[in-house]
Amino acid sequence: MTNEQPGLFEEFPENREEIEVESDLIVQADDYSHLPFLPGLGREEAYADIKDIIELEKIARECRRCRLRESCSQVVFGEGPPDARLMLIGEGPGQDEDIQGQPFVGKAGKLLDKILEAAEINRSEVYIGNVVKCRPPGNRLPNPDEVKECQKYLEAQIKLIKPSIIVCLGSMASQTLIDPKAKISRIRGSWLIRQGIKIMPTFHPAALLRNPGYKRPVWEDFKQIRDEYKNLP
Ligand code: SF4
Repeated sequence: MTNEQPGLFEEFPENREEIEVESDLIVQADDYSHLPFLPGLGREEAYADIKDIIELEKIARECRRCRLRESCSQVVFGEGPPDARLMLIGEGPGQDEDIQGQPFVGKAGKLLDKILEAAEINRSEVYIGNVVKCRPPGNRLPNPDEVKECQKYLEAQIKLIKPSIIVCLGSMASQTLIDPKAKISRIRGSWLIRQGIKIMPTFHPAALLRNPGYKRPVWEDFKQIRDEYKNLP
């Protein structure tokens, strides 16, 4: 099932060569490079002039644009192939991630590995990242100003990687990527399409650890993700 939200989401227009985006501006339907991907973010606010993910990572590693960098050990930028077709986005690094410098390596990460394995998706093919790149102290939720600052990196990551599918793991990712008012329990399990990228919101693996009742819906969601991923042209 695909949900469409006017203004935010659009089906890729079939049988159309061109799409009108402004009064007299006509661009090819699959050229979204000039449009921001994340809601509420201006393209000029992100790192649009950076053409290489390694260069972007170098900038992020030096970043001190918000207070989260003061208390974390290191920036956890994200990992995976620079041309991954599937991107998983969580909330932010936890203690294990902060120590190891990699996303999703703690308990929730191990559970995510199991889910991916059950869905026959090789983790090494997937790009995995977070909304914020520095661990919030005590694993608190990132504050809105911290998300606002760090989402510029996420915007640039998406534009550089150009995935076909993005999976939002949990509320924070869904609210950052889909809609600030998104409620994960209401929107999970349904595909959305923006700029030709399919987006699936589902529960965060950490929520499964707290509430085993989420296992069934998450597995249903990942079966859909597996099928879409395996059927990519
Ligand atoms: S959380 Fe993001 S914006 Fe804040 S210091 Fe870390 S990398 Fe920079």
